[in-house]
Amino acid sequence: MNILSLFDGISCGQIALEKAGIDVKIYFASEVDKYAIEITNKNYPTTIQIGDVRNIEKEQFPEIDLLIGGSPCQDLSISKAGDGLNGKHSNLFFEYVRLLREIKPKYFLFENVMPRKKSWKETMDYCLGTKGVLINSNIFVQQNRPRYYWTNIKINNTPLKPAWKGDYYQWRRTYYRKNKSGVCPCLMANMGTGGHNVPLKSENKQDKLTPLECERLQGLPDNYTEGVSNRQRYKLIGNAWTVPVVTNVFKRLR
Ligand code: SAH
Repeated sequence: MNILSLFDGISCGQIALEKAGIDVKIYFASEVDKYAIEITNKNYPTTIQIGDVRNIEKEQFPEIDLLIGGSPCQDLSISKAGDGLNGKHSNLFFEYVRLLREIKPKYFLFENVMPRKKSWKETMDYCLGTKGVLINSNIFVQQNRPRYYWTNIKINNTPLKPAWKGDYYQWRRTYYRKNKSGVCPCLMANMGTGGHNVPLKSENKQDKLTPLECERLQGLPDNYTEGVSNRQRYKLIGNAWTVPVVTNVFKRLR
């Protein structure tokens, strides 16, 4: 299959395709973050990096079988006050819609956070021509991460029991509180900024989840993001897709 991945990040789409056993002919990646590109190129040297999504034209490509991506979500997220789909980050959503309409791929998958306003979700359903389905990563990994997935692939989201539980502590205003569920709170890109954002394994402030542990909570291969600073690793992992969730969708393409 020829793949076009927008907002490719660290290419979790490519890991998932490999795990799902899909034969990838060409993988085009649109990404602008130099650290993300560095990690992708280290793990998948054959990736064709094509830069900023706003400069992409359909004439650049052979026939595309699968268009994938999850656009920046800072303005949409329930965890932040933002400007929604017109915000300066999240308006890139419309670049995905533009290319979906121009390229007309056989299959597509779009992922995003739970939008803070119902009307934003409705606009996204309308633009993508299908209703987004909510899947929480916690059916595959020990992390609470509810995300919407829009796709014309038949999704199999049969809940799987996570293999293990652990203790996680999360900052609540003035102190660390143990998560009753035994599941890690959603890993966020702001883990890279330090402070209280990296979940802990005990009440001891030094007991932060390591980048490797965060990779495992996203279903990434061990040390996948090695090679850049821990600050960058946390950020890239917090932005990433949970690999087994996407793998489970792509398995339907076999
Ligand atoms: N799904 C990806 C991460 C998506 S986060 C993964 O699994 O890793 C959104 C990504 O969009 C970020 O990596 C950000 O750098 C990228 N991005 C932001 N502006 C962009 C633009 N104009 N063109 C392409 N990518 C962009």
